[in-house]
Amino acid sequence: MAAGAGRQAALVMAKEDKFDVAVIGAGPAGMMAAGTAAESGAKVILIEKNKQLGKKLLLTGNGRCNITNAEFNLKELVKNYNNGEFLFHSFSVFGPKEIMDFFAKIGIKTKTERGKRVFPINDDAEEVLEALNRYLTGNPSTSSGQGSVNILFNSEVVSVETANNAAGRRKISKIILRGREITAEKYIFCTGGKSYPLTGSDGSGYKLSEDLGHTVIKPMPALSSIRLKEKWVENLQGISLRDIKISVFSPEAGQKGKRQFSESGDLLFTHSGISGPAALDISAKVGDLLEKSGIKIYLDLLPLLNHEKLEGNLDDILKRYPKKTVKNILSDFVPERLAEVLSGIAGVDKNKIANNMSKQEKRMLIKAFKSLEVTAASILGFDEAKVTRGGISLKEIDHKTMKSKIIDNLFFAGEIIDVDGKTGGFNLQMCWSTGYIAGEAIALADSLR
Ligand SMILES: Cc1cc2nc3c(=O)[nH]c(=O)nc-3n(C[C@H](O)[C@H](O)[C@H](O)COP(=O)(O)OP(=O)(O)OC[C@H]3O[C@@H](n4cnc5c(N)ncnc54)[C@H](O)[C@@H]3O)c2cc1C
Repeated sequence: MAAGAGRQAALVMAKEDKFDVAVIGAGPAGMMAAGTAAESGAKVILIEKNKQLGKKLLLTGNGRCNITNAEFNLKELVKNYNNGEFLFHSFSVFGPKEIMDFFAKIGIKTKTERGKRVFPINDDAEEVLEALNRYLTGNPSTSSGQGSVNILFNSEVVSVETANNAAGRRKISKIILRGREITAEKYIFCTGGKSYPLTGSDGSGYKLSEDLGHTVIKPMPALSSIRLKEKWVENLQGISLRDIKISVFSPEAGQKGKRQFSESGDLLFTHSGISGPAALDISAKVGDLLEKSGIKIYLDLLPLLNHEKLEGNLDDILKRYPKKTVKNILSDFVPERLAEVLSGIAGVDKNKIANNMSKQEKRMLIKAFKSLEVTAASILGFDEAKVTRGGISLKEIDHKTMKSKIIDNLFFAGEIIDVDGKTGGFNLQMCWSTGYIAGEAIALADSLR
């Protein structure tokens, strides 16, 4: 597929400035909300400040787009989010199964990989965006043929005006763009969070919401790499390890301290620290703890082997290969560059004949494998964070409709709200689900019927 085709094709200018529904932000949540509202026959405008749909969506899953996670047990599913209980209703109406069916219907077959991660069969985020574009502009899935969404590109909503409705409740009367005003019966804010601001989500939706009286829980980077103080990490850049375990302690008075939490998964060493799912998934909590106190992180590089088993395995190898060096023996367990670093940390000469190691040296090596201590310096900021923790307070949103409890004709969907998920397709699922719920609630609203 020609790169960029999906970005250009969708430009459909609105002829009038009065709509049933105005959706602000054409990311995954906004596209789903706009399409769902339009399927009911509502006249919908989708307003995007970029010149294209879904700029961030194209980056997801390294361009492969991890659409969702095939965790169909909803009680388990919500455990993968910060504030996940809020999503239970949305998932029960439009969860992973429903989004996979939806994509099949608009021409995107999916496949499920390790960790239940769901990807488009062709590993191509561009194709996903292309299909969404067709859904929005042609809407082939509606039998009535109604439902095309008006899309307005290069258009930033800069402020919002309000008035009181007949019942005396505050509602949005119009939204102001640069050089243009738009009025609608209902509005859905889908402006995303603050991460990767170059994709368009720079936090402007928080400001619009605060101006309307909403509370914004302090946005923080989440799913971001963790910078470490240890210099040796530079030598490990690019090494990835499967299924390690990270435990985080907050030190008290120089002691190892109290275990705060742990996470298992794949790990990637970067030039300055650690990344990969296991590190990304704990990064927001690490950032939070760092603001309060120092923390210690311990990596168990071989969690499937306890100390005794590892010692036994090591002894077996030493017996079989009595002439091998420490570095060679350790390379049976981890990549060679890491083996060298580990022997240095354990204080064992990497070129020593391994069979000549003292008991103490063996103990120190096992400790380096099972409890490698690293010190978090910081987590990388919004430019690197995959998502934002924080956002519109959930206390001010009805979880069954995504409707604001403060402004009568306002709805929210996607990353703008105070929910964020782990790696593995959970964040996009949250956007599809809340977008659908908001779009459907509006479609069912009396005022549009
Ligand atoms: C590199 C990377 C990889 C990722 N990979 C995955 C993955 O594989 N799976 C997964 O589940 N999640 C992934 N995520 C997270 C996922 O992309 C986001 O959670 C998701 O895009 C959020 O969707 P959204 O619609 O809420 O907001 P966004 O996608 O951020 O879209 C918001 C849109 O609103 C527009 N906007 C903002 N303010 C205004 C305004 N005032 N006026 C008009 N328009 C405005 C923006 O330009 C933007 O297009 C990844 C994120 C990144 C950065």
